[in-house]
Amino acid sequence: MSKNWRPATQLVHGGTTRSQHGETSEAIFLTQGFVYETSEAAEARFKGETEGFIYARYGSPTNDMFEKRMCMLEGAEDARATASGMAAVAAAILCQLKAGDHIVAARALFGSCRWVVETLAPKYGIECTLVDGRDLANWEKAIQKNTKVFFLESPTNPTLEVIDIAGVAILANQIGAKVVVDNVFATPLFQKPLELGAHIVVYSATKHIDGQGRCLGGVVLSDKDWINEHLHDYFRHTGPAMSPFNAWTLLKGIETLPLRVKQQTENARRVADFLAEQPQVAKVIYPGRKDHPQADIIAKQMTGGSTLVAFELKGGKDAAFALQNALQIARISNNLGDSKSLITHPATTTHKNLTDEARDELGISAGTVRFSAGIEDSDDIVEDFARALKSVKA
Ligand SMILES: *Cc1c(COP(=O)(O)O)cnc(C)c1O
Repeated sequence: MSKNWRPATQLVHGGTTRSQHGETSEAIFLTQGFVYETSEAAEARFKGETEGFIYARYGSPTNDMFEKRMCMLEGAEDARATASGMAAVAAAILCQLKAGDHIVAARALFGSCRWVVETLAPKYGIECTLVDGRDLANWEKAIQKNTKVFFLESPTNPTLEVIDIAGVAILANQIGAKVVVDNVFATPLFQKPLELGAHIVVYSATKHIDGQGRCLGGVVLSDKDWINEHLHDYFRHTGPAMSPFNAWTLLKGIETLPLRVKQQTENARRVADFLAEQPQVAKVIYPGRKDHPQADIIAKQMTGGSTLVAFELKGGKDAAFALQNALQIARISNNLGDSKSLITHPATTTHKNLTDEARDELGISAGTVRFSAGIEDSDDIVEDFARALKSVKA
């Protein structure tokens, strides 16, 4: 295994271990436990004197391959695979905090992530301040003596705002706080938060990493010291471990991640450019376009555009519903990162629980639509939009 392999190679070979049969494809080890040859061997394993697995809640061979492959891709020292993206986020935030600590988080967060910091953490005496993360001055102003964690997502869901990760990391380092980045929307291919100075990266592997709509998964990545000090025991004793079957599915999914993300990004870019010219469309936000409000930060911290496009229809909710109903390729679904193109109306689905005011702050209007590009032929996708837009008034 070479650390210098480029991502496409790492994602096919990284972390693979083979059993005595020498199988080509990674094996699924669906086992809860492990047996020891002798009592002494069991004792040594529990003392940590010999390497090996103890119980699948702590770690298991297929999950280990997935974690190692993700570490290679991310440039992280260690990782833990979790049952879902939310298990990863909750573990990453809660394992390192105690009553009396304070979190500063960007307010533009995936709905459940926002619930963890805004609603769950305060129940345990952990305070949280939500800020407009686009302006570094807001992060700085929110710092308190007890601030321990900065939490953000970039680009954000659904309006694809970006946050200057390196800038946030500089502020955090000045006070010894940790920066946790939810890197789902950028994918591990287009943005490397650890290189930008973040300390912990989390993914919902449910999205691009599976990418074919099959199973849930998540992963937390960081340095060995942080994982040993904070996540190791939390993970063992609260049980968010990924199923080995899902780890296997995700290992197979990740092999084709670069191919899929490349096609999805090309398809998203073509849809963004097409929509920007249409009379029914008020605004297109796409991280690969020059007219993105934060194109300078994108150029600094991302190496690719996005597989998602956010746009606003002049005709509000009626127009958004008419467009979604008329599309034949993009299916109406709140999921994203799938090989099938998906489309959603955030105000009535993913962000319906926010107050009107909170939605306004995030730039989600009645006409906002989020498109997640699949891997279909881009000509077909654009033609489908052109046809469907005919049922939408300008
Ligand atoms: C989907 C998603 C999550 C949650 O992941 P699950 O696998 O659904 O639990 C967290 N953050 C972002 C940005 C997501 O898109």
